[in-house]
Amino acid sequence: MTDLWTRWTRAIDDELPAAVALRHAVHADPRGSGDEEDTARLVTAAIGAGDGIRVAKTGRAIPLPGAAADGPAVALRAELDALPVTERTGVPWASETDLMHACGHDVHLAALVAVARAAVRVEVPRPILALLQPREETSPSGALDVVESGLLAEHRVDTVIGAHVQPRLADGAVSAVPGPVNASTDEFEVVLHGQGGHAGYPHMLRDPILALSQLVVSLQQLASRRIDPVFGAVCSVGRIQAGTAANVVPNSASAAGSLRLMRAEDRERALEALAQIVHGTAAAHGCTAELRISPCEPVLHNDPALAAAAQRWLVHSGARVDHEFRSFGADDFAHYCGGETRGLMLFVGLGDTAGAPSLHDEVFLPGDDAVTRVAHALVAGYLAATEAESR
Ligand SMILES: [Zn+2]
Repeated sequence: MTDLWTRWTRAIDDELPAAVALRHAVHADPRGSGDEEDTARLVTAAIGAGDGIRVAKTGRAIPLPGAAADGPAVALRAELDALPVTERTGVPWASETDLMHACGHDVHLAALVAVARAAVRVEVPRPILALLQPREETSPSGALDVVESGLLAEHRVDTVIGAHVQPRLADGAVSAVPGPVNASTDEFEVVLHGQGGHAGYPHMLRDPILALSQLVVSLQQLASRRIDPVFGAVCSVGRIQAGTAANVVPNSASAAGSLRLMRAEDRERALEALAQIVHGTAAAHGCTAELRISPCEPVLHNDPALAAAAQRWLVHSGARVDHEFRSFGADDFAHYCGGETRGLMLFVGLGDTAGAPSLHDEVFLPGDDAVTRVAHALVAGYLAATEAESR
């Protein structure tokens, strides 16, 4: 165990300068979801194992040379896309456009480059596919397109490993928690139709703003009264729109939000409750409602055997292993966790300190040492995949 881990980490150390340079280059030139062509080209060139196979339009899958020829393959996934955030970190390699790598995907790509280059010089018992996935930040997701492309089956991939930086986890901690670790999400949009008119004659109107205000409050009771609190649910409204003037009640009002769950079996009941609350609240105010649901990600469910094996490697590496971390965040990595493949998403702590910027913040900037730690997490996941029994 010691020799193998040491061989990996030494080989990764040798690749770090190139990986960190790649990280800065990717960070300085971010591309949005669906427009990752240049980033994919840059990262593919840095891996240095050929052009790879195009997948999900702007993604690449790169079989690594030197890997074992047979046995099921392990895909190591990193995300290509940046976010529509204007960067304020002030580093010399900051983005100068209105896009920013504010979710750590630049770190994940660099870590994958280090691991892929190191893998050529380390004994790898199972084939590795470096997976540069596009469109993680949008819906419909790039991961779903990768799964539906059939590419993973063609390359006999039975396991997908991912690692994500996480500012809510202590610095130096790494989590490989079994079972559900990220929530499912469904986005919803509601339009309430009433009868607008003069603000001084409310008895002659059907006020959609009052109905919408009541609806936003009532939706909080979906989580507290319809879903087992042991497992929890989140129903957050992120946008409301209505009206044009202080003395005019409008004809309609709209809202959009997301419904998040930790158990797939709660989804039908939660969507039913959402519809009841929307239509019932509208009716109580003499309004009518339109409700549109857009399914996004399923629950991200880490394979328990993979998680247990990865934890052993992390302990061996000297990392502080976290056994608790779960969040109602969502990641399209969830699409790899079930069906034809099993998946393991590890989280790499950046330091859960007061005032530290969150993911997607305009000053979010992990240090370059995060590249090493994400690379080690990917290796722990890969080694776990070579040991843990496939389902
Ligand atoms: Zn992310």
